[in-house]
Amino acid sequence: MSKVLEEVLAANARYAAQFGKKGSLGMPPARRFAILTCMDARLDPAKFAGLSEGDAHIIRNAGGRASDDAIRSLVISYKLLGTREWFVIHHTNCGMEFFTNDVIRNLLAQSLETARLTDAGFTDVGPGPGSRAAEYIEWLTIRDQERSVTDDVTRIRTHPLVPASIPIYGYLYDVATGRLIEVREATAAGRAVSETEG
Ligand SMILES: [Zn+2]
Repeated sequence: MSKVLEEVLAANARYAAQFGKKGSLGMPPARRFAILTCMDARLDPAKFAGLSEGDAHIIRNAGGRASDDAIRSLVISYKLLGTREWFVIHHTNCGMEFFTNDVIRNLLAQSLETARLTDAGFTDVGPGPGSRAAEYIEWLTIRDQERSVTDDVTRIRTHPLVPASIPIYGYLYDVATGRLIEVREATAAGRAVSETEG
């Protein structure tokens, strides 16, 4: 068994032993909100946003981008499971700033092995063959952190399946301090049209 697999199963056994009343939690998030954020290993939404099991939906992908699939999850989160406020949280030092569509497409065309991040950017060290299938993927890289949060909040806000009543907050998580920093332009773009539901 791999070391990681062994560690994960051992940790899970300890967790399940203390599971207590969590087995009777309801499916809809008790605090009725959702967070879309990056998969970066330094971000722990449960800790930085004070969540317990059952509290909120966390939707994660590379960059925390408002991809079609992220929007699919958010629409389900509202329509079927009753969340009423959404956060889009990108972060400083995001890996998605370190490449472009062209860069990852060229890397993958050469080799599928893990590339190395150097001062000159990502370079390939692995053997080929690679694949040109990456040409067909939009990688949703990030050029400017505040811009990407604002773009994503705006995309969600203007999506035909997203009701105007949901406020969408735009934030950056600072990996150096653990703080959430508001992106005012994004939050302004995400303001709910009617907040009468309270
Ligand atoms: Zn990231």
